[in-house]
Amino acid sequence: MPWFAGVSRSEINWNPTIDEEKCVRCGMCMNCGKKVFEWRDGRPVVVNPTACVVGCSTCANLCLGNAITFPPLADLRALYRERKVWNAVRRTLIEEGILPAHERPDGEK
Ligand code: SF4
Ligand code: SF4
Repeated sequence: MPWFAGVSRSEINWNPTIDEEKCVRCGMCMNCGKKVFEWRDGRPVVVNPTACVVGCSTCANLCLGNAITFPPLADLRALYRERKVWNAVRRTLIEEGILPAHERPDGEK
């Protein structure tokens, strides 16, 4: 089950941006297993932004040059609240017998 249940990935503004001035060419971002980056002409380039896992920021956390940023997390959470993604995930997990029926996520009514 996708964790952005019911919302198209193309509607979700979540992918890395590289500040070329700050990038020190350490290569750590190439460790992402989703093929979001490619190494071109001696530096990383974001070639597949929608392959980025929604909510992930591992590459930014481990970037030696602190060169990678993401859109505000608050915007992503606002979209999830507005589109009731948390509810959809909870409903599916209840249907699958993973969550008990009385479970309710924080922040979404
Ligand atoms: S945030 Fe995660 S999934 Fe997205 S590009 Fe970085 S390491 Fe890959
Ligand atoms: S992890 Fe950061 S500093 Fe290292 S190559 Fe990627 S963008 Fe550049």
